[in-house]
Amino acid sequence: MKIYELTLEQRIKYLLENEYIDQRQADSLLKRQTISKDLADSLSENQIGSFSLPYGFATDFLVNGKDYLVPMTIEEPSVIAAASNGAKRIKHSGGFKTFPSKRIVYGQIVLEKITDIDFEQLEQNSSEIFNFAQNAHPSLLRRGGGIVSLKFNRYDEFTEIELGIDTVDAMGANMVNTILEKTAHKIVELTNDDVLCSILSNSGQGQVITVEARVDFAQLGTKDMTGEQVANRIVQLSSFAQKSVKRAITHNKGIMNGIDAVLLATGNDFRAQEAAAHSFAFESGQYQPFSEWHIEDAQLVGTLKMPIELGSVGGAIRALPMAQLSLAIMKIKDSQELQSVVGAVGLANNLSAIRALVTTGIQTGHMGLQSKSLAVSAGAVGSEIHAVAEKLNQTKDYTIKNAENILKELREK
Ligand code: NDP
Repeated sequence: MKIYELTLEQRIKYLLENEYIDQRQADSLLKRQTISKDLADSLSENQIGSFSLPYGFATDFLVNGKDYLVPMTIEEPSVIAAASNGAKRIKHSGGFKTFPSKRIVYGQIVLEKITDIDFEQLEQNSSEIFNFAQNAHPSLLRRGGGIVSLKFNRYDEFTEIELGIDTVDAMGANMVNTILEKTAHKIVELTNDDVLCSILSNSGQGQVITVEARVDFAQLGTKDMTGEQVANRIVQLSSFAQKSVKRAITHNKGIMNGIDAVLLATGNDFRAQEAAAHSFAFESGQYQPFSEWHIEDAQLVGTLKMPIELGSVGGAIRALPMAQLSLAIMKIKDSQELQSVVGAVGLANNLSAIRALVTTGIQTGHMGLQSKSLAVSAGAVGSEIHAVAEKLNQTKDYTIKNAENILKELREK
């Protein structure tokens, strides 16, 4: 069965019959229920409505031996198709293997203009500061998280107290900020120093995941190229991305296409993820791709390494019904499992994009899907959409003018 050939109602029925969702969730999808006025008011200011984006799911994700359908929220045609396409090739060769991280979030308490004597006094109080911070969020400690590191750093006239905090399954920004602000007050009490600010860092250094995938050559061929040829060209393009910053940026954009779409679908803070990911890409001093592809034992082998900042609880995740639905569809147990699936999506999108680039080019598939949204923009409705899109694909003239002309002709028939 090809999911993309089903109607929306049939897809929802498929999810229901295969126990990804229950009847209540199916009804809410069918009624296209959006968030309530009260919820929108509590999440953001000056609200006048809620903004809808397409919500779908990618198929064929086999991650650490478990099958997933992966909900994605995205307005760009071809991202879900590309994720499913990449995942299917990888599934046939054994699936994704991931090495997720704990959720260590770093936070900074910044002091201004302290003397050497004050700095020494601060260091002498380090156990008291550590213990205070550790008890500043008791429930986190009960869940097995808490403070894992404390460091004092000096930058010219500034002193930074850096806390590493295990936030278990939460993204942790609010929890970390609460701990930092409480600890900052304690520091003022102990040393009388002036605190400039207390805030988490979105560096993502404590949340780096590695995802691996192997692809048999047989999964890569086209009608004009053998799988081995395609694999070699993918390796070449991967190598070029390590040398060319301009290419690395677009290589990574293709990875973020999938990652951000899952983060949006699960109510996660994709701005935090963007900040973490791109600072990591620049860690060596030259912006680098998040993934690398090489050939090993007659297989194409891909490795993605990057921070993935997210939570499976907390923030808007618990409040947004669609975020809860997404976690239910994936049957996610904790943040490490979600991080693994999100990383796998990034690598799947990457495989599809670079395979297309080194074979037919990106536009064939992309514009083929884009044609539907062009048809709608030209005014097509119902069965006209498919008819106009098909004609656009035949003429390969993907302009709004062409779409309008095709629609006009169709209506005159
Ligand atoms: P919350 O403030 O909702 O804190 C997480 C909550 O999850 C806690 O109340 C905790 O409960 C609960 N929880 C339940 N189960 C678990 C578990 N297994 N592990 C950990 N916690 C659990 O959200 P976050 O602290 O995660 O903050 C995320 C929000 O902060 C996002 O909306 C983000 O946009 C926003 N934000 C981001 C910033 C940034 O990135 N720079 C800055 C400021 C805010 P309990 O207390 O009982 O342990």
